[in-house]
Amino acid sequence: MPDNITHDVVILGSGCAGLTAAIYTGRANLKPLVLEGHEPGGQLSITTLVENFPGWPEGVQGPDLIENMKKQSVRFGAELRLAHLSSIDLTKRPFSLNLGKETIHTRSLIIASGASARWLNLPSEQALIGHGVTSCATCDGFFASGKEIAVIGGGDTAMEEALFLTRFATKVTIINRSEKFRASKIMLDRAIAHPKVRFLSSTIVEEVIGVEEKDVKGLRVKNQVSGEQYVLPVAFMFLAIGHIPNAMAFKDLIDVDADGYIKTRNNVFTTLNGEIIPGVFACGDIQDRRYRQAITAAGSGCMAALEVEKYLEEHGR
Ligand code: NAP
Repeated sequence: MPDNITHDVVILGSGCAGLTAAIYTGRANLKPLVLEGHEPGGQLSITTLVENFPGWPEGVQGPDLIENMKKQSVRFGAELRLAHLSSIDLTKRPFSLNLGKETIHTRSLIIASGASARWLNLPSEQALIGHGVTSCATCDGFFASGKEIAVIGGGDTAMEEALFLTRFATKVTIINRSEKFRASKIMLDRAIAHPKVRFLSSTIVEEVIGVEEKDVKGLRVKNQVSGEQYVLPVAFMFLAIGHIPNAMAFKDLIDVDADGYIKTRNNVFTTLNGEIIPGVFACGDIQDRRYRQAITAAGSGCMAALEVEKYLEEHGR
């Protein structure tokens, strides 16, 4: 459907950050257009029970939380559309967004396209996401109570998550593909000193066992040096091999850090060569490599929406 109007605000991404921004801008009568990217609903839509989102004493299923946010945004006039952004022009106002078959225009933009967890990309791993395979220790650690588990990765996140998971699990095996660990010495030493943590280095995961049972039963691993293969009996596999911010489309248009996360000033203002880009805001995991929580993403989505309101008041609709 051709879209000849100029929108007040377009929001890229329909995870927690984007949908919160949609609720706020919707309630401000700005009729936000939300473009859902290649992972509609964001990371919450691939988790199971979320127990740390305030207001849900018994927890809430991630996909249900997202569905409720969508309904809430639509109730206030948001339009949600599945679309893939091909290119974007931020040099002229209104901004133009090329969606392949059509180009749309907007006076302001909220970028909330998130970051995707990096996976091993094994078919068995993909089949068991949410059933013992997870990329979020904070979200799913509790479910590992009383179990033996594995954490994949050798960086600071792997050490941090492994240490966090010792609160629940009986034994945590950190599996690092290299011999050398990328983690800082202090984090590595902490993990080494913990009686529940053990290490497997130069080891890769070849298969997650339990696809038929829909529940992780173990990992088939291989030592890269000796060639030895065996099954490690664990009930959970936590991935901690990094995240990939979904910011490729903004390369050279917006300042990003060395790992591709959008740099923001005062939480949600974007910059180019250090200068603020008026009318373009970023929120959620695409600009947050530190907290990466649903609630912090929602909080920054709210901030971006309030800044859009201010911006449009000052610059006219
Ligand atoms: P990272 O430092 O990039 O480490 C990623 C780890 O995942 C590496 O061990 C890497 O192995 C491994 N890996 C990557 N792709 C893999 C694959 N396909 N299969 C198996 N292993 C794979 O990432 P991070 O630990 O998430 O940390 C990101 C940044 O945040 C770092 O700068 C870190 O210092 C910082 N951080 C700091 C803290 C803290 O200070 N408390 C906590 C968390 C994160 P190779 O080494 O073989 O490539």
